[in-house]
Amino acid sequence: MPTVFERIVAREIPAAIVHEDEWIVAFRDIEPQAPFHVLVVPRTPIPRLRDAGPEEAGILGRMLLVARKVATEAGYDDVGFRCVLNDGPDAGQVVPHLHLHVLAGRGFGWPPG
Ligand code: 5GP
Repeated sequence: MPTVFERIVAREIPAAIVHEDEWIVAFRDIEPQAPFHVLVVPRTPIPRLRDAGPEEAGILGRMLLVARKVATEAGYDDVGFRCVLNDGPDAGQVVPHLHLHVLAGRGFGWPPG
């Protein structure tokens, strides 16, 4: 059963895509938690960060570079942005397809909730 992100990557369901390349698709979160909230998703359906091995080093690095690119393009390079990767139930991961949240446009507290 493909996840909702696999279906977005396959263009089976619509999403507001802000970046797409050979490895990564990035699109607006349907329930944004900040004025800017984008999900950076590898095309390969790795369920969780715990499932990524050394062979995924390239894709993990690309995810961060795409996060920087979309935040910079949206004008948040100076004020900054937050990247969040929820891994597993305690972290609140809901969609079992590795993804990076890129959030910007407001201040964020620390420690996170
Ligand atoms: P998680 O809690 O797994 O780290 O985050 C999953 C995120 O996916 C949530 O922020 C949720 O709003 C987002 N999401 C869930 N379903 C959809 C969808 O169909 N389209 C989009 N664009 N985002 C989704």
